[in-house]
Amino acid sequence: MIAKPSNNSSIPELKQIIIPKHPEWPKLTAAEKTELKEYIKKLLKEQNAVLAAHYYTTADLQELAEETGGCVADSLEMARFGTTQNASTLVVAGVRFMGETSKILNPEKRVLMPDLSATCSLDEGCPAEEFKAFCDLYPDHTVVVYANTSAEVKAISDWVVTSAIALPIVEHLAQKGEKVLWGPDKHLGSYVQKMTGVEMVLWPGSCVVHEEFKSVALERIIKLHPDAAVLVHPESPENIVKLADVVGSTTALIKAVGSMDNKEFIVATDKGIFYKMQQAAPDKTLIEAPTIGVGATCQACAECPWMGMNSLQNLAETLEKGTNEIHIEPSIREKAVIPIQRMLDFAATRK
Ligand code: SF4
Repeated sequence: MIAKPSNNSSIPELKQIIIPKHPEWPKLTAAEKTELKEYIKKLLKEQNAVLAAHYYTTADLQELAEETGGCVADSLEMARFGTTQNASTLVVAGVRFMGETSKILNPEKRVLMPDLSATCSLDEGCPAEEFKAFCDLYPDHTVVVYANTSAEVKAISDWVVTSAIALPIVEHLAQKGEKVLWGPDKHLGSYVQKMTGVEMVLWPGSCVVHEEFKSVALERIIKLHPDAAVLVHPESPENIVKLADVVGSTTALIKAVGSMDNKEFIVATDKGIFYKMQQAAPDKTLIEAPTIGVGATCQACAECPWMGMNSLQNLAETLEKGTNEIHIEPSIREKAVIPIQRMLDFAATRK
């Protein structure tokens, strides 16, 4: 039973999230890697499949997606991408909610993932039943959830947002006079609240990767690189966001590296993003924001342990065996598609 908080800052206690160790994949020689990639390309073709890889996956997977006509993108673009493809199989290299979103939007397609246990601390920290009980305490609020949630949580929500589109959607709701209940990322929620001035009730989840960026150590690095621009994803805590020159979604941060005049960038988000950043600006220097320091507990600094569960090896195995298919209960899918489609329709009106 969740008691109604007396103010917006005191909300349910979350269960402890077990963070897996960052997987160590056997190192491949250049020749082995090429051979494996060629094999995957053949399997993709034979199975009429396309690969969508998230910016936080390895450079090998991002490269393979590009080479095979797939996409490398943030979760919003990955969701859109599947709907534009004729392929009968979508292979999603990312975390589970991304595969689920693809399946929700493409129920007639087979959706495979290299590892179905690749989840996300935001998704894990927001069980549908508890979230529903929390929402029931605020029946007059519009429920806005971040894309990093299960299909079940999306099914009880009014809107789904990604970090790329959270601000305009909340502004749009505020203009209509709607009160907002936000879940599950408290840091992104606080940032949206601050930027829009909209009072929101926040679920207290967080991303274990962004939570680990350390402001004292970051200040030290900024002093060492005074001309560097600091790029921060809004899933990071407020004291990190405060030090940023640019706060934005993964896509916005990649664009910033290409468009800003600075030669150096300190980057506070998963370092898988360096692949696309380096592509956008090969002559610029990228520096990882520090995650170590007093109180750091992250087991894989600036690398999401769940994203790390995707590799060339298990991608090949999934395609070979046809395992790790995403299935979603039709009754959940019917409800979950509504807030996702609402987001996509809203995004289309802004293009
Ligand atoms: S980086 Fe954070 S938000 Fe992204 S998948 Fe990993 S745990 Fe989830």
